[in-house]
Amino acid sequence: MHNTLAELDKKNIWHPFTPLQGAPDPIFIKSAEGVYLHTDDGRKILDAVSSWWVNLHGHSNAYIADAIAAQARSLEHVIFAGFTHEPAIRLSKNLLSILPKNQSRIFFSDNGSTAVEVALKMAMQYWHNEDIEKTKIIAIEGAYHGDTFGAMSVGERGIFTDPFKPYLFETVFIDFPNGSDEDILQQFRDIAEQGDVAAFIYEPLVQGAGGMRMYAPAVLNGLLEIAEEYDILCIADEVFTGFGRTGKLFASDYCTIKPDIIAVSKGITGGTMPLGVTACSDKVLAAYQSDDFLKTFFHGHSYTANPIACAAANASFDLLMNETCQQNIIRISNEHLKFSASIVGHRRVGTVRSLGTILALEIKTNTITSYDNEIRKKIYPYFLDKNILLRPLGNVIYILPPYVITNEQLAEIYTAIREFLDQLS
Ligand SMILES: *Cc1c(COP(=O)(O)O)cnc(C)c1O
Repeated sequence: MHNTLAELDKKNIWHPFTPLQGAPDPIFIKSAEGVYLHTDDGRKILDAVSSWWVNLHGHSNAYIADAIAAQARSLEHVIFAGFTHEPAIRLSKNLLSILPKNQSRIFFSDNGSTAVEVALKMAMQYWHNEDIEKTKIIAIEGAYHGDTFGAMSVGERGIFTDPFKPYLFETVFIDFPNGSDEDILQQFRDIAEQGDVAAFIYEPLVQGAGGMRMYAPAVLNGLLEIAEEYDILCIADEVFTGFGRTGKLFASDYCTIKPDIIAVSKGITGGTMPLGVTACSDKVLAAYQSDDFLKTFFHGHSYTANPIACAAANASFDLLMNETCQQNIIRISNEHLKFSASIVGHRRVGTVRSLGTILALEIKTNTITSYDNEIRKKIYPYFLDKNILLRPLGNVIYILPPYVITNEQLAEIYTAIREFLDQLS
């Protein structure tokens, strides 16, 4: 990096999830194309994690870039209370055409955490508007729903949330559903029976930040069934799993019972612009359809439904629904499965998990599985040295590439992972 810029970065900028001292200098990216990030000193780094799980169609995609440029020239932004515009309307139509059929309304925000905050507030006010006393929220152990306070409150408590503990609202956590289905369903039912449960929030089928932990559609469907029985609003946090990540457009598509509210973000714009969306069903809407002004959902952000972000999302939608992209998702899924089968018996490999375009493998270590696991400090630089960006979660290495990745590029990542495992003592 140019020295002066490097110094300025160090002096001026506070990077996310990065200690202010002791962290390696950030890598200076000058441009990016397809699956590659180009550094200013001529390196080409393969982005195997889709830049924090947002990129779908490769970097600097020309089709999305054109849509963004055209939109910026005609309407860059307008207040969204009392005003509307074509990109948002078209996006609502696009999203409702692929979201589960019970979803009927789109609320815009600008990232995953706010999409979750909106979902939680929508569910809480639902009961308030109905004049029913229900306040408990159920979540799943190990959950990650974002970094704002509501989102943190329904997420797993740990080193990231410790400083804020006194400010987080109470949440009831059920065990991660990978043991006996009967036990977990009974646990959920016991909590539901106590009454007072307003909502159940979950990452459908895959807990992303929790370590790419996966569970079966059958048990989730069972949980949703009980929630329905006890009139508990179900919130699917599809911020990570949406837009083809799990092999279907939404992870909720693997279940027969549909959530009342769905939060999406990350892949929505193909990884180009920040945008969050919270969709809900007619049932949720009904509690707000009132002449009583006080039943209004009083929530909004300055950049709600930003037209440029919406235009990017519409362009990404076109690409996603294209046959080529759908074939790519299937192709990546199949490659992942083949690699999983070939690596599963490796002496240093614990469980191998894959669903759709996500592949995760646990490295056997002596220490407990957690984010600050020692091995993480070895994995990250090892692959960066080989010009592959992998950002392990503790001892879990995962790949979730942009959908345009080729089989050759996938093979390069698989080979590097195998070599890494082989050289471990
Ligand atoms: C990333 C993520 C969020 C938070 O999204 P941000 O855009 O980073 O705020 C929420 N839920 C899940 C499941 C996520 O993976």
